[in-house]
Amino acid sequence: MTVVRCDNVVHIYRAEDDDVVALRGVDLEVGQGESVALLGPSGAGKTTLLWLLAGLLRPSAGGLHVLGRDVEKLSPGALSRLRAREIGVVLQNPARNVLAYATAAQNVAQAQRIGRTRRPIGELLERAGLGHVARRPAGRLSGGEQQRLAVAIAMAHRPRLLLADEPTSQLDRASATAVIELLRDAASESGTTVVVVTHDPAVGTAFDRSLTIRDGRVGSEGKDGTEYLVVGRDGSVQLPPALQEILPPGTRAVARALPDGVELRREAE
Ligand code: ADP
Ligand code: MG
Repeated sequence: MTVVRCDNVVHIYRAEDDDVVALRGVDLEVGQGESVALLGPSGAGKTTLLWLLAGLLRPSAGGLHVLGRDVEKLSPGALSRLRAREIGVVLQNPARNVLAYATAAQNVAQAQRIGRTRRPIGELLERAGLGHVARRPAGRLSGGEQQRLAVAIAMAHRPRLLLADEPTSQLDRASATAVIELLRDAASESGTTVVVVTHDPAVGTAFDRSLTIRDGRVGSEGKDGTEYLVVGRDGSVQLPPALQEILPPGTRAVARALPDGVELRREAE
């Protein structure tokens, strides 16, 4: 079953003086139980895409199906019910994911009240490396501990779709690895589909697929150790940085068909 489907999704932030085109035609399909990392430079549109998948934003154009629902046809109430019951979200800002005055354990319990099924709170906190701070108010946890708590909260109701935006940005290597393990286990044990935004290419390789977003669209996809360029609807390809040194932006190139591909050569000088 397809859990996420984007067809030429465009997102524009409207402002009085200046519109920002954050996504300019994203095509994407993610199946049940798949885990996908979204990579890409700052400002590429990763967070915008995650918010669209979470139903926190709606696309300006294009088709978006999440968990079999056409997002465009859902009322705001239906969309927020879908999110509460079947989606777990870790936002980029750690403090926004937790209730500061509730303890870590209460935060997880709160998240379970509206979910489908529950996971044992103690076990979940233990696996997130938070067993020793279960009774501490979330506001008194460190940034890294809040980030791990956010992941535990997002997983607490066994969502069908788990979305996390830079969940390891404040963690050292060991804690980051633990969080990635936790996310991967969600995919393998519960069949949860996992989409994680990350800056860290090492995190990217831990998942089934990694998609690199550049300039508002999916430029390349890493799978089974190979990095593939993704040809856009208009036939465009984004050359990776190393190849841009050979063919810098604005270069005129001659394209020639080969039996299994296309060759690009710089115009002769
Ligand atoms: P990333 O997460 O990859 O860094 P974002 O999705 O946050 O990228 O941003 C994509 C583009 O949209 C950037 O140019 C950013 O400045 C712009 N943007 C993000 N949020 C807003 C907003 N609320 N209003 C206007 N522009 C925004
Ligand atoms: Mg972001």
